[in-house]
Amino acid sequence: MPNVYAFDHKHRKAPMEMKDLLGGKGANLAEMTSVLGLPVPAGFTITTDACRAYMHGGWPEGLTGEVERHVRRLEKAMGKKLGDSSDPLLVSVRSGAKFSMPGMMDTVLNLGLNDASVKGLADQTSDDRFAYDSYRRFISMYGRIVLDIPGEEFDQPFEDAKRVTGVATDAEIPAGDLADLCEKYKEVVERATGQPFPQEPSDQLQGAIEAVFRSWNGARARAYRIREKIDHELGTAVNVQAMVFGNRNDNSGTGVGFTRDPATGAQGEYGDFLVNAQGEDVVAGIRNTLPLSALQERFPHVHTELMEIFARLEAHYRDMCDTEFTIEDGRLWMLQTRVGKRTGKAAFKMAVDMTKRQDWKPPRGVKLTIDKPAPKPWQISKEEAISRVSADHADQLLHPQFAVRPSNLLTKALAASPGAAVGKVYFTADEAVAAAERGEAVILVRSETSPEDVHGMIAAQGILTSRGGLVSHAAVVARGWGKPAVVGAEKVRITGRSFSVGDITVAEGDVISLDGGSGEVALGEVALSPAEPTEEFQSVLKWADSVRKGKMAVRANADNGPDAANARRLGAEGIGLCRTEHMFLADDRLPIVRRMILAETPEEEDAALEELREAQKLDFVAILEAMDNLPVTVRLLDPPLHEFLPSIEELELKAATSGLDAEEQKLLGAAKEWREVNPMLGTRGVRLGVIKPGLYAMQVRALMEAAKERLAAGGKPRVEVMIPLTVTREELALARSWVAGAVESETAGLRRKLDVTIGTMIETPRAAVRADEIAEVADFFSFGTNDLTQMTFGFSRDDVEGRMMAAYLEAGLLKRNPFETIDQPGVGQLVLDAVARGRATVPGLKMGVCGEHGGDPESIAFFRRAGLDYVSCSPFRVPIARLAAAQAVLADG
Ligand code: PEP
Ligand code: MG
Repeated sequence: MPNVYAFDHKHRKAPMEMKDLLGGKGANLAEMTSVLGLPVPAGFTITTDACRAYMHGGWPEGLTGEVERHVRRLEKAMGKKLGDSSDPLLVSVRSGAKFSMPGMMDTVLNLGLNDASVKGLADQTSDDRFAYDSYRRFISMYGRIVLDIPGEEFDQPFEDAKRVTGVATDAEIPAGDLADLCEKYKEVVERATGQPFPQEPSDQLQGAIEAVFRSWNGARARAYRIREKIDHELGTAVNVQAMVFGNRNDNSGTGVGFTRDPATGAQGEYGDFLVNAQGEDVVAGIRNTLPLSALQERFPHVHTELMEIFARLEAHYRDMCDTEFTIEDGRLWMLQTRVGKRTGKAAFKMAVDMTKRQDWKPPRGVKLTIDKPAPKPWQISKEEAISRVSADHADQLLHPQFAVRPSNLLTKALAASPGAAVGKVYFTADEAVAAAERGEAVILVRSETSPEDVHGMIAAQGILTSRGGLVSHAAVVARGWGKPAVVGAEKVRITGRSFSVGDITVAEGDVISLDGGSGEVALGEVALSPAEPTEEFQSVLKWADSVRKGKMAVRANADNGPDAANARRLGAEGIGLCRTEHMFLADDRLPIVRRMILAETPEEEDAALEELREAQKLDFVAILEAMDNLPVTVRLLDPPLHEFLPSIEELELKAATSGLDAEEQKLLGAAKEWREVNPMLGTRGVRLGVIKPGLYAMQVRALMEAAKERLAAGGKPRVEVMIPLTVTREELALARSWVAGAVESETAGLRRKLDVTIGTMIETPRAAVRADEIAEVADFFSFGTNDLTQMTFGFSRDDVEGRMMAAYLEAGLLKRNPFETIDQPGVGQLVLDAVARGRATVPGLKMGVCGEHGGDPESIAFFRRAGLDYVSCSPFRVPIARLAAAQAVLADG
């Protein structure tokens, strides 16, 4: 297999489908070149295979020769040579992984310049200043990225040059001084590395390619991948492409364009550009940009061509695309495209809009500029629309906004990423992280952000920048994460650890609020209201419901009436887990449980159980009412008893100081008696039922009383009684007998039969392995993947995540936190085995999942493949689970 492919290589399948091998950028460059015939500067892609080979065994054999051959071919295509002293070819070397990682990895521009070719560039362009400016940029970029020289080493000579020449801006430094600066930069390189700056273009190229490979494993990139759940093993491709210069003159420029508005989804082009600038200037948000509409006045023919290209891209990708383009001396070049990132609001709007016919025609009297037939009308199906939106998009629509118009408005700037946030301001990423670790809500305030700030952005609730546009780093990254951000707030003047707006000063630690949907920034805390899901959001969810109907249901985990009602409003089709122990954590109920634990005689225990029954019945009525005619799975008590007892340490302290009363004395005794080293593996679940006979019967009596009350009120209660933490058939059979006995005695003589089934959680490895036997005495299974994960890994669910998960993910020992996304090869295998065994005993046995994984889209896809009938998750997660379940059904065919 070759390691290198030219952009115009005729692949056997569409290159845009080859992101695994060519990376996203390379795949789309090849698509634009070889399929769409768009104006793309020639170049080639070094594959991700080569990067993986490099990571495991160093520079791959044969790669040098392949790169050389492609360079020769590129030189021939361009009619220029790298390093040539009369008319040199210059190339860019850019990373491009399968998934876009904005700003995370390295890029080297202007490669091929050396002491001889800089003169050629000056001659060709008749512009010494341009040539030496390009050379000094190249030396410093190469020095920083390839040779690991700290960027500051190049700052001083640059500032000196500005001072000596007495100019205010970079653009004013005269050519001669830039040439001197190049000499100084070369000295910096020689001092730092002990070697002269490499003059040979093939050495420069190999150095740059290696640097891009290496940057895949840089700290920034690794942190980003953990956050975005991208596999460390994928590797990056490297794209080597002939340079075009947006900074050649005032007839040049560079920009970023979207085929629709990525923030709102509105139809029509969107983006910005800069005259006489290089691409990085737009993305970095260093200069304030012009909107794309201004392109129409400034470069009308480029605007026309770009609009045609946008229409072709949308029709071809059948989706919104974002692009980077450069105008070199009046000529348009496309440097990149991809299906564009978008906000949640935009994602749902575009998905729904695109189910209607999309038909582009050139404006009257305008000829096509690309030598290909005009794009055909197109539209997507509702199923495609469902697949176009992600859980993150839905999450964004479920984000809060300002509830009131803020009275202390500081400024209104660009609304870069929706959602509102309140927090204390911090001005550096490190301080933001430190404050977040202290438990503070943080707003990170920066003039602009760069990849160095990413950890601070992750830690912050919201981001505010004083410079940059809607496609600046801060905006793109925040939008991708659904993190509220307001950018380009020019009235915000940052000085050290405070900022001012007019005569108001906001110091580090002061509270501000921002709304990334409206662009408003206010002093102090503004009340937030929950988000309003849009009409399009509701449409897509409705479509999703019809796709998954009868195939995968979504229930909620809820333990009281109001939560159950809310879950039903959010689309839950029943309760998959009612944790009855949660009914006892309230202040007024805790003493009753304690009385039960402390009971010394059967009479005392019965009395306590009777009180519990009364309390539980009320809750059961409320839940059954909220979920009338929908299944409600009530899990019998599964508490580690210590959760209901006071802390031993506190009681002992009190004993030693003010002394304990009689009740407290007893509690201390009980707390000591029931203390367990890892209580999550102790006296819980059905085990508790075994040593406290009567407990489960009491709960079932309460439940049946509630159900009868609902029946009498004309309701249709559907009850599923669930036994937790089962390990053997015999244990479940015993528990089942208590439950069945209580059901029997409570419902005897009823005219209308109550709909009651009895099942179990599968949450221990043994239960999974012996699921065939357990199914003999179960009407249903519900996988408790929280405990199943804990017990399969031997990871204490209470301790491991805080202490070691970050280190495990960082070191690549785990690809995902298994408590968040199901570990398919391990825990998932147990689920698969249990499904097969259970259904071997009882074909079609009803099965669901109620661990936290029930709300995780990737896990939901797995549960669908495993054949589960439903997932159950927290009420607020229900809309996302509905969407994910439909996507899983679609993916599964
Ligand atoms: C589980 O273990 O997955 C479960 C749902 O039960 P709990 O989290 O209450 O132990
Ligand atoms: Mg459990």
